[in-house]
Amino acid sequence: MQPIRLYNSLTRRVDPLAPLALGRVTIYTCGSTVYRYAHIGNLRTYLFGDLLRRTLQYLDYEVLYVKNITDVGHMRETGEDPILLAAEVEGKTPREIAEFYTDAWLEDERLLNIVPADVLPKATDHIAEMVELTRTLLEKGLAYEVAGNVYFDVSAFPAYGQLSGQRIDEMRAGHRVDIEPDKHDPEDFALWKRAEPDRLMKWPSAWGDGFPGWHIECSAMSMKYLGERFDIHTGGIDLKFPHHEDEIAQSEGTTGHQVVSVWMHGEFLTLDDAKMARSVGNVIRVTDLPSKGFQPLDFRYLALTAHYRSKLDFTYDAMQAAAAGLRRLRRAVSEGAGGDGPAPDLAAEPMAGYRARFVEAISEDLAMPKAVAVAHAVAADDDLAAAARRALLLDFDRVLGLDLDAPAEPAGRELPAGAAELLERRAAARVARDYAMSDALRDELAALGVNVRDTPQGQETTLRR
Ligand SMILES: [Zn+2]
Repeated sequence: MQPIRLYNSLTRRVDPLAPLALGRVTIYTCGSTVYRYAHIGNLRTYLFGDLLRRTLQYLDYEVLYVKNITDVGHMRETGEDPILLAAEVEGKTPREIAEFYTDAWLEDERLLNIVPADVLPKATDHIAEMVELTRTLLEKGLAYEVAGNVYFDVSAFPAYGQLSGQRIDEMRAGHRVDIEPDKHDPEDFALWKRAEPDRLMKWPSAWGDGFPGWHIECSAMSMKYLGERFDIHTGGIDLKFPHHEDEIAQSEGTTGHQVVSVWMHGEFLTLDDAKMARSVGNVIRVTDLPSKGFQPLDFRYLALTAHYRSKLDFTYDAMQAAAAGLRRLRRAVSEGAGGDGPAPDLAAEPMAGYRARFVEAISEDLAMPKAVAVAHAVAADDDLAAAARRALLLDFDRVLGLDLDAPAEPAGRELPAGAAELLERRAAARVARDYAMSDALRDELAALGVNVRDTPQGQETTLRR
C-alpha cells in the first residue's frame, strides 16, 4: 500500500490515513432515501465515495464498502414520512415505492460507473438492531421515553457538537420543536417514534408499535457490517449536522468509545449558484442528459474537474467542455490500440514519472482535477509511444472510471470531424457574448451537417443525415 492523506471533518485537517487493520479500509456511506429519483447533485456525493474507494484500491488497499438504503424513518421538516407520502400519491405500497426508487438509483449509479457497494443494507431489514441500540441507550441513561417516543438526551452526552462545531445554544435556535412537542430539550432527537394508528410501516417494540428515527439507522447498519470501530464515514455536507452528529452520539454512546476514525463530506452541486434540490425545483437526472446530447460519463468527467470539497456549478457549457475533455482522452487511448509490440513497462521512465504524479494527486485528499491534468499531459505527450499513452491512461482509468477504452464518439451520434471543436469554440463565444462569432460558427457547423439550437441549458445539436 501507498500512504494517503485525507481531510477529516472531525479534526478539520488533512491527516495521513491510519487504517485500523494494515492494508484494509472499511467505509460507510449514507445512501439514498428511496422515495423519488436521485438527481445529479445526489449522485455527485456517491461519485465522491466511489473515487475514494477506487483510489484506495489503486493504492493497493483492500476495501470493504457499505452503503445503506433508507427505506423508512427519514422524516420531513413537516413531520411527514416521504415514502408513505409517495406511496399514497402513486397508489403503491411503501415497499413498492422503496423497491422502485432503489432500482432507479442503482441504475443511475451504474450509468456513472459507480462500483456497487459490497453491502447495500436496507433500513427495514435492521429494525431489531435499531431497537437494540435504543434499548442500550435507555439503559445507559442517554435516552428517555415519553409515551412511546424515545429521544436521545443530548445533555447527557457532553461531546455532542464535536463534528459540526456548533454550540448547543446555536443548535437550539436551528431546531423545530413543534413536530416533537414532548422532547425535554429542543436539540434532543428521536431514536424511536410512536406509530400513528393507521400508519402502514410500523414494528412492535417494548415502547409500543413504532418506527425508528433516521439517525439510528446508520449507527445500526454501519456497526453491524463494519464493527464497533471502522475507518471512514462519508456523506454529503448537508448530513454533517444533525445526521452525523447524532450518529456519533448514538454509536459512541452505546459503545463508550470512538467508532469512526475519519469523517468525510462532499460539497454540493449547484445550478445557477443554487444548491440542486427537489425543494428548489432545479433537479436534473442523469437519464435527462442524453436528450441534451451528453453521455452520463460526461457528467462523471465534470465531477472530476472539481475537488470534492468545492462546490461545483453545473452548466451545459461546462458539460460541453467535459465532453470534449473526455473525447480527447478516449482518442489518445484508441490511437494506441492494436500495436503488436511488447506491452509498455509502466515502471520504466518516463511512464513511472507520470504514474508518480498521478499517485501524488489522488493520495493528497483525492485531488482529482490534478489527476485529470496528469492524464491530459500523457495524452498530449508526443514523445511517448501511442501504446505507452494508452497503457498509462487505462491504468489511470481504474480510478477515473471514464471507460477510456470506449469509442470517442458514442455509436449513432458521431459528430463529423471538426464539429466538436467548432461547438467548443461556439460555447466559448457565447460565454464571451461574441454573437457575430457564434453565428459564424453556427453556419460552419451547418455546413458540416450539424444543426445547433440554443436552449437555456446550452447548445443542443442534431445531425442532418
Ligand atoms: Zn446516514
